[in-house]
Amino acid sequence: MCKTHVLSVSGAKAPFEKTTIERRELRPDDIFIDIKYCGICHSDIHNAYDEWGGGMFPMVPGHEMAGVVRAVGPEVTKFYVGDRVGVGCFVDSCEKCEYCLRGEEQFCTKGVVLSYNSLDYDGNLTYGGYSQNIVVKEEFVVRIPDALDLDVASPLLCAGITTYAPLRKWNTGPGRKVAIVGMGGLGHLAVQYAHAMGAEVTVLSQSLNKKSEALELGADHYFATSDPAVFTELAGRFDLILNTVSANLDVDAYLSMLRVDGTLVNVGAPTQSDKYNVFSLIMQRRSIAGSLVGGIRETQEMLDFSAQHGIAPKIEVIRADQVDEAYERVLRSDVRYRFVIDISTL
Ligand code: NAP
Ligand code: ZN
Ligand code: ZN
Repeated sequence: MCKTHVLSVSGAKAPFEKTTIERRELRPDDIFIDIKYCGICHSDIHNAYDEWGGGMFPMVPGHEMAGVVRAVGPEVTKFYVGDRVGVGCFVDSCEKCEYCLRGEEQFCTKGVVLSYNSLDYDGNLTYGGYSQNIVVKEEFVVRIPDALDLDVASPLLCAGITTYAPLRKWNTGPGRKVAIVGMGGLGHLAVQYAHAMGAEVTVLSQSLNKKSEALELGADHYFATSDPAVFTELAGRFDLILNTVSANLDVDAYLSMLRVDGTLVNVGAPTQSDKYNVFSLIMQRRSIAGSLVGGIRETQEMLDFSAQHGIAPKIEVIRADQVDEAYERVLRSDVRYRFVIDISTL
């Protein structure tokens, strides 16, 4: 067992405190990783505030981990001491069911083991990346390409794959009109991926504040949804709308901007149920869908694609004692565009 310094919360909305936990002994197929940076995802806030229910405390959030391999178990074949690696939203799955076999471990029928706030297959609570190190089975570790610094790589492990995967799944490419709703941590990466995949990209943000940055990141058009005329102007425009917003939207208004056969894909995960009128779907054969992170194989593909296309999040690196303040700033949409904790300050 290895004692590790972490940032934890003792209950919903409690402030972060520096405490210690024990990481398990290395199993033969385990990797021991020194975490260097960990991104702050809005899901960390939903979980730490227990907004989705089922919160298990004490909680150590963090599922955007980038670090360096310190030790490997005797049966590890893919990684060596010193390798630059990442760990995302989950750390184990059955590896045998139909979804695991096709590389979509997030849908494992036994139940995927999340990086934190989850019970592993031995019944132990998992602790995430606001932590000096972590022990993970090698199959759930990805390689960070040399072209990506570890601090900018960390948000890709959740925000990157969560946007890359649905854009691929819904055939983003030349000739397709894609709208990204919300220019936050997920949204500003979605803009870059959709652009790199060749689509015509529109950002739908609450205000005009982020327009110049959206255009720099590859958006072709930008609209502020605070102006209701935008919904009329864009009626029937998009093949795909990727919604990254953490709050409930007027779903019918967004559906009205889809073409025939267009799809509204939700990755944003508000705490209350959405409402919509079924005629918003029927009349133009539209669909509503959801998407959950992405599998390990596709996460590696996303990292390689990011390195190849020069895609990276815009980050603000913070110290471990600034996390409470960072949460408040994320809730005020006062982040451009991802906070990343420098774990050496823990
Ligand atoms: P974030 O950085 O806070 O970004 C969300 C953005 O949504 C904000 O920057 C803001 O963009 C917009 N927004 C916020 N409140 C709004 C409101 N009331 N009305 C309209 N727009 C609003 O959060 P994030 O880390 O990108 O995560 C976004 C959501 O995705 C969260 O709910 C998170 O839990 C979820 N998530 C889901 C998955 C998955 O697998 N499905 C994975 C990761 C995260 P503008 O200023 O541009 O309007
Ligand atoms: Zn996340
Ligand atoms: Zn499985």
